[in-house]
Amino acid sequence: MGLLTEGSPLSWEDTKNLADHVRKHGIIQFINLYKRLRDRQGDVLKWGDEIEYMLIKFDDEEKVAKLSLRAKEILNILNEEERKNPQNVKSLWRPEYGAFMIEGTPGSPYGGLLAHFNVVEANMHNRRQEASKLLLPGETLMSLTNFPRMGALDFTDPPAKPSPDSGASRSLFFPDDAIYSGHPRFKTLTRNIRQRRGEKVAINIPVYKDKNVPNPFKEDLKSLGDDGSSAKVAKDDHIYMDAMGFGMGCCCLQLTFQACNIQEARTLYDQLTPLCPIMLALTAASPFYKGYISDVDCRWNVISCSVDCRTEEERGLKPLKENKFIINKSRYDSIDSYLSEQGDKYNDVPLVYDNDIYNQLMDNGIDRLLAQHIAHLFIRDSVSLFSEKIHQNDLEDSDHFENIQSTNWQTMRFKPPPPNSSIGWRVEFRPCEVQLTDFENAAIVCFIVLLTRVILSYKLNLLIPISKVDENMANAQKKNAVTAEKFWFRRDVTFNGKNTDNNEPEYTEFTVNEIINGKKDVFPGLIPLVNSYLASMDVDADTHCTIQRYMKLIQRRASGELLTTAAWLRKEVLSHPDYKNDAVITQRINYDLLKKIHDVQSNRISCSELLGPCTTSKTTETIPAAVAKAEKCPSTGH
Ligand code: ADP
Ligand code: MG
Ligand code: MG
Repeated sequence: MGLLTEGSPLSWEDTKNLADHVRKHGIIQFINLYKRLRDRQGDVLKWGDEIEYMLIKFDDEEKVAKLSLRAKEILNILNEEERKNPQNVKSLWRPEYGAFMIEGTPGSPYGGLLAHFNVVEANMHNRRQEASKLLLPGETLMSLTNFPRMGALDFTDPPAKPSPDSGASRSLFFPDDAIYSGHPRFKTLTRNIRQRRGEKVAINIPVYKDKNVPNPFKEDLKSLGDDGSSAKVAKDDHIYMDAMGFGMGCCCLQLTFQACNIQEARTLYDQLTPLCPIMLALTAASPFYKGYISDVDCRWNVISCSVDCRTEEERGLKPLKENKFIINKSRYDSIDSYLSEQGDKYNDVPLVYDNDIYNQLMDNGIDRLLAQHIAHLFIRDSVSLFSEKIHQNDLEDSDHFENIQSTNWQTMRFKPPPPNSSIGWRVEFRPCEVQLTDFENAAIVCFIVLLTRVILSYKLNLLIPISKVDENMANAQKKNAVTAEKFWFRRDVTFNGKNTDNNEPEYTEFTVNEIINGKKDVFPGLIPLVNSYLASMDVDADTHCTIQRYMKLIQRRASGELLTTAAWLRKEVLSHPDYKNDAVITQRINYDLLKKIHDVQSNRISCSELLGPCTTSKTTETIPAAVAKAEKCPSTGH
């Protein structure tokens, strides 16, 4: 997404009245774009990461840590550079939902050379430095999935009060001042999602029932100004949250790949889908919500519920009258259908889609699988529309299409080329939680990129039924899923299942360790597959070293030799001297935890239980430098 254009948001009533207009023109725009670009060929691999950061403010005297609401000020300065010199910046910076969040990406995408892996971590490091230069004393930038006390009493700097009776969220806990105010998009989305749903969003996450947690665990919502509507939906023994900010205020790690053509993009979209829950489990990093320890390790369900704009009719609680469909998932959730021919037979979940749109797409030469995908995305209404954008040239613009596309926040995103650009068909991989250090984030990024190369070169087939991916998504979020859960995964990924015995099912249950590291005589393991791919390539010594350092981290996390971020965070809180076995993260526990995280992130202390024995990076700052170095020092023969 480029720099957000300024504009005036329409009221929810006006947006609602224009829902069909946006859908109608969005579909025409997609059809035009498809006709123009379906045969586009020969794009090369390009890819890039997106990392979201939080601004944390420490008060070392009071021993408290809060979210600093200064993202707008910092972004203004960061974006100045880009405005002056858009083609030549090291990092690009974008606003995100929270007034305490910023998103950073590399200044330009990486390409197909293995030597580019040698730049990723240095680029992330540099990105952190660039933003950190603009911080005030006491502030730090953190790649932290969730702020442990977000929504608990007094969590922002400057202090801000929730406003249950007015404003965008109407939350008992999350103040509107914590929503990014530099662009109206975020508050508008918040208001419209709430209004469309007909009530506040409701997020209930099981609390960790430690021995001193009251039974049942129940918060006093009335004292916070609840008019009864929260008490009605808050569940016993759950951490109850009531605002978009609880989900969209979480940080994540995303990756985008450019494919050589639309077919390859469809293949990648499908093949990466079964990896989403596996990578979610492996990157689990968010066990704390609203000042409590929860019983889950990941943010996914929290975000999903935090933007669930479905009405009671759409959720199946009332007969359909005003609405057209019963919809089984939030607009933020895992994908519902595969896009490639190979994936067709694994689409085993009945897909809800708009039949008229489907027929219109088919009449315009779009095949069944793509038509149903788009018609499925377009069951949603626009939840943010700007007056300047209502009337568009459908031959050239794609804003109405993007309006619906970009508010379907799914595990994978199929991204058509933007109008008038040199960019090709892309897919985005979106499940991962962000890790504390650049080392870990670089490792995850490089692992996924390498997997895409392995999948394409070996023509691997990782597909399992969509219903099984859904089951895996639910399991991935459970506490310690990496070591405690099993996941459906395909047994034979190398021969399209042709050589499996007909009596054996194509997929079975594996641990994450078996999926990543292999299971003797059953499954080779993803890292061994990556390594065998690398063995067939010419890899220079530095790059080889870097890649192995990353693969080792992934292997150790998968085997349980190293803790996941979530497990480490839990351990830190549970062993804090102030912890009273009541699942409560006090200001002091929060402060000490974040201080420690800060020390780990900035390499001030080593943390071998999380990162393993060796963490020194040999990476290089720029792509040309890494490539030149690789050329001077070719293959190690590994
Ligand atoms: P989003 O719409 O998901 O927010 P962003 O623009 O924030 O997308 O980030 C897109 C990512 O894609 C960045 O990491 C960027 O480096 C990368 N990228 C840019 N151009 C291309 C391209 N042609 N192909 C693949 N990735 C690209
Ligand atoms: Mg982005
Ligand atoms: Mg993105």
